[in-house]
Amino acid sequence: MNIEQQINQLREELRQHNYNYYVLDAAVISDYEFDMKLKTLQELEKKHPEFYDPNSPTLRVGGEVTKNFETVVHEHRMYSLDNSYSREDLLDWEKRIKKLVDGEINYTCELKYDGASISLTYEEGVLVRAVTRGDGIQGDNVTTNVKTINSVPLKLKGDFPSKFDIRGEIVLPYEGFAKMNQERIEAGEEPYANPRNTASGSLKLQDSSETAKRPLDCLLYNITGNKIGITSQIESLEKARVWGFKVPSESKLVHSIDEVLSFVNYWDEHRHDLPYETDGIVIKVNDLQQQEELGFTAKAPRWAMAYKFKAEQASTILREITYQVGRTGAITPVANLDPVLLAGTTVKRASLHNADQIEKLDIRVEDTVFVEKGGEIIPKIIGVDFQKRNQNSKPTLYITECPECNTPLIRKEGEAQHYCPNYKGCTPQIVGRIQHYISRKAMDIEGLGGETVTLLVNEGLITNYADLYELRKEQVVPLERMAEKSADNLINGIQKSKEIPFERVLFALGIRYVGETVAKKLAKHYKSIQAIIEATEEGLVNVDEIGIKIAQSVREFFSIDENKELINRLLGYGVQLEISAEKLANQTDTLQGQTFVVSGVFEKVSRNELKKLIEDNGGKVSSSISSKTSFVVAGANMGPSKLEKANKLEISIISEDEFLSKIK
Ligand code: AMP
Ligand code: ZN
Repeated sequence: MNIEQQINQLREELRQHNYNYYVLDAAVISDYEFDMKLKTLQELEKKHPEFYDPNSPTLRVGGEVTKNFETVVHEHRMYSLDNSYSREDLLDWEKRIKKLVDGEINYTCELKYDGASISLTYEEGVLVRAVTRGDGIQGDNVTTNVKTINSVPLKLKGDFPSKFDIRGEIVLPYEGFAKMNQERIEAGEEPYANPRNTASGSLKLQDSSETAKRPLDCLLYNITGNKIGITSQIESLEKARVWGFKVPSESKLVHSIDEVLSFVNYWDEHRHDLPYETDGIVIKVNDLQQQEELGFTAKAPRWAMAYKFKAEQASTILREITYQVGRTGAITPVANLDPVLLAGTTVKRASLHNADQIEKLDIRVEDTVFVEKGGEIIPKIIGVDFQKRNQNSKPTLYITECPECNTPLIRKEGEAQHYCPNYKGCTPQIVGRIQHYISRKAMDIEGLGGETVTLLVNEGLITNYADLYELRKEQVVPLERMAEKSADNLINGIQKSKEIPFERVLFALGIRYVGETVAKKLAKHYKSIQAIIEATEEGLVNVDEIGIKIAQSVREFFSIDENKELINRLLGYGVQLEISAEKLANQTDTLQGQTFVVSGVFEKVSRNELKKLIEDNGGKVSSSISSKTSFVVAGANMGPSKLEKANKLEISIISEDEFLSKIK
């Protein structure tokens, strides 16, 4: 085989594996094997640029930067959909269309995915363009970003038309969304409000490698253009599936409006079991000939109808807006509401996000507001009932000073959030940093909780995390709710934290944007705090997965004298500020390429130790079982749903001992 053939074969293989993994969710090789093949291909392509292919699987990681997205006129207009809300609406619709076409009408029912709509153009089986809906007539060319979405095929399989457009929705599944948000919170950033906006924002990122990092998915539902003998909607879904597109399997062919309603009722109840957000269902006339006869109104196809699920909404009175100060100084406005029942829970507070949001919705104290619970955990206010507004109410004036320390707030360019810049003297920031330091994923200090930290700060006993190591028992005992025993525990817990490994100390320091994962990356790469302090911005950016924002934040942190002094003090107390020699010696590649899920209670090691053992030996730890899982390590009382899932996916379940013997 010559080089070109070798390259082409690797590309073909990787494309198939990619499809198995992202479209079918049924991988046949391990992540490790996949990575190895990808690496080989990358090396070959680098050596032989003459065989460049813009659709190579190596280009999924992105990297191209778009400053201005080109405007593209859609060849076939992207319509919106008419909405219906009741059985009567649907029967009316059926009556209308029956007047316009002959013969029996069958329908497909599909889920209405809630994301960003996209139009993909394929020529000779190759993705040539991806355009956002825009105003329906023209949209933005976001091809470079869409190419990084793994479930979008760059090359098709089977017997596809030589040129066609296919439409779908780009969504951010809940799990990936929650994970992104958790990482943001841990890194001191504001979480994203909801999956839909985050998905559509992801398409317009300038740096495609940023888009590549987001766990987006693309679900297809409509072929336009040359249909090559396809005669029905249900058939076109099947065809698209064969060509390699991800087409969810919930769609169903039905023969009457009553069957449509059963589909609606079923999914209204079960939609929360789906991995992504849906906001209704879409009903389409199945026969394409009939569709053509029905055509379009100015706004929407006559042959399709959306049926919107009722959003879980309630109205109540906003009593007060309060402001919270986070450990990074970020200010979050919170709505305090008259308690109201919403989607099964009593809601008293709702997020108001930031000043712009309050102004945009013109939210005022004593207003009657509408509260909605969508995909997000904290309910949000979606609008004001203006008819009920008090005549003499005044627009909300956003605070200009920190509610805790009265320092004038600042707002950085391009950021929605206000900040209190009083890094050194603002109590919630001081308390927040220490609370972060002692938290479970950071130093995990036993015998010391968040409330005690507040108490210690208020009593003037500590003002930063280094002060913890100077605390003496006799200072602690007199505190509220403290006793001999608990004071001992607290001091011991602090002493024991000196054994916490470097990567967690690095996370504990509370450097903005340095979450758990980033801290691990930095620790592994630099091996000591000294090396990180000396690292340049360019050096940092060159570390895998470290971007400019993180690099700048790290530089900023260590350019502050107080922080350097804190580090020196921690060094003096014996806190682990470099990777221990023992750890370096203990690290192996034994579990390279294997993904583990840990479940249950263990005898010989704790859950956290077990996870650490997996990572130290090159394995990956994941929290949920999927086709990517290599092994489930099961202790006593493993969860029944996990067990069922593991059995269903035929994943090996091993005991603690079996695991330990693997790494012996
Ligand atoms: P709307 O934005 O409420 O007018 O609804 C129309 C949008 O629903 C379309 O532009 C699509 O982006 C989206 N949509 C989601 N799922 C489907 C589906 N199965 N069929 C057609 N459109 C869908
Ligand atoms: Zn402040």
